[in-house]
Amino acid sequence: MTTSTTPPFLPFALPEIGEEEIAEVVDTLRSGWITTGPRARRFEQDFAAFLGDGSLQAVAVNSATAGLHLALEALGIGPGDEVITTTHTFTATAEVVRYLGADVRLVDIDPATLNIDPAAVEAAVGPRTKAIVPVHYGGLAAEMDGLLAIAARHGLKVVEDAAHALPSTHRGRLVGTLASDATVFSFYANKTITTGEGGMLVTRDAALAQRARVMRLHGMNRDAFDRFTAKVPSWYYEVVAPGFKYNLTDIAAAIGIHQLRRAPAFAQRRSAIAARYHESFASLPVVRAPLPPEGERHAWHLYPLRLDDDAAVSRDAFVDALFAQGIGCSVHYIPLHLHPYWRDRYALTAAQFPHSQQAYERLVSLPIYTRMSDADLERVVAAVQRALQPGHG
Ligand SMILES: *Cc1c(COP(=O)(O)O)cnc(C)c1O
Repeated sequence: MTTSTTPPFLPFALPEIGEEEIAEVVDTLRSGWITTGPRARRFEQDFAAFLGDGSLQAVAVNSATAGLHLALEALGIGPGDEVITTTHTFTATAEVVRYLGADVRLVDIDPATLNIDPAAVEAAVGPRTKAIVPVHYGGLAAEMDGLLAIAARHGLKVVEDAAHALPSTHRGRLVGTLASDATVFSFYANKTITTGEGGMLVTRDAALAQRARVMRLHGMNRDAFDRFTAKVPSWYYEVVAPGFKYNLTDIAAAIGIHQLRRAPAFAQRRSAIAARYHESFASLPVVRAPLPPEGERHAWHLYPLRLDDDAAVSRDAFVDALFAQGIGCSVHYIPLHLHPYWRDRYALTAAQFPHSQQAYERLVSLPIYTRMSDADLERVVAAVQRALQPGHG
């Protein structure tokens, strides 16, 4: 029998679901309307209001992947086209381009921000390029001014993968309200707000929003709730395209309505955790997570720490040492150019992406979520300090 007082394992991420979310889900279940209906509509309206721009439309979907697919479909991306994005992302960012039969052109990151490098984008633009998909890595807004200028110069569309970026700002404006064609947020279980699975496409382009609404539900020109609530016989609809099944359920939207209200408080806690990490790691052999420019908001979905080349331990040994101390962590990301599908499809080598590759070999994402207590936070700080001591692990 052990008499050890080892604290329980601290997971890398945990959602924070409160009693209001639970009560709203229960009300939804009892209401008789559980698929897309009044709560999904309210979530869309609340989301647009949260972004604070009356010209925006929000389209709720069952994942960010679905939202990215719908946005690019509505913009007419198809076979023969090329879409530029970062290698330093999750595969969803790029796979949606392949769904449409278009090609992905991966480019490297700026090593200071870990975001897509506008100069690399500019160099990659070719005759087939139709769109750029920047990712706000970890919740730090990408260099949107530069990217939007490149897009304007070459007549390209821009769809922001904002899976990490609620709420983040660029030049004082919330991501979602910038001058791109569409922005897509994720409500996956570990994102800054969650509906279990879910996403939101936002756009000022009324035609894009309309196309996305039709395509998220089988290409039907009226959804079930429309027809259910109509005052006239409502069995009739028309299929105008071979659409998808991407609608968000009211059960999920019920969670999202309350998560959204808590987003500012969640963001505050995440920022406080990031600030504590930043001060605690000042003298360690690491590159700390990049901070946002003065006055900007960072959503802090991730806290990516990079070990220095002369750190006493390798990244893998560091991860092992954290796990041995009961701390979960992860790596964001294994760059796309290292995954067999992307590597083989486009004959990619690590040498083409030196900054992403360099970062990847040294990266660790530390726990950063609202359910971490101050004691949990101090445990992570102490574990990081210990794991970096020579001979440890
Ligand atoms: C989570 C994530 C996605 C996909 O989000 P889903 O809602 O799970 O489809 C896309 N891009 C990035 C960068 C992500 O982290």
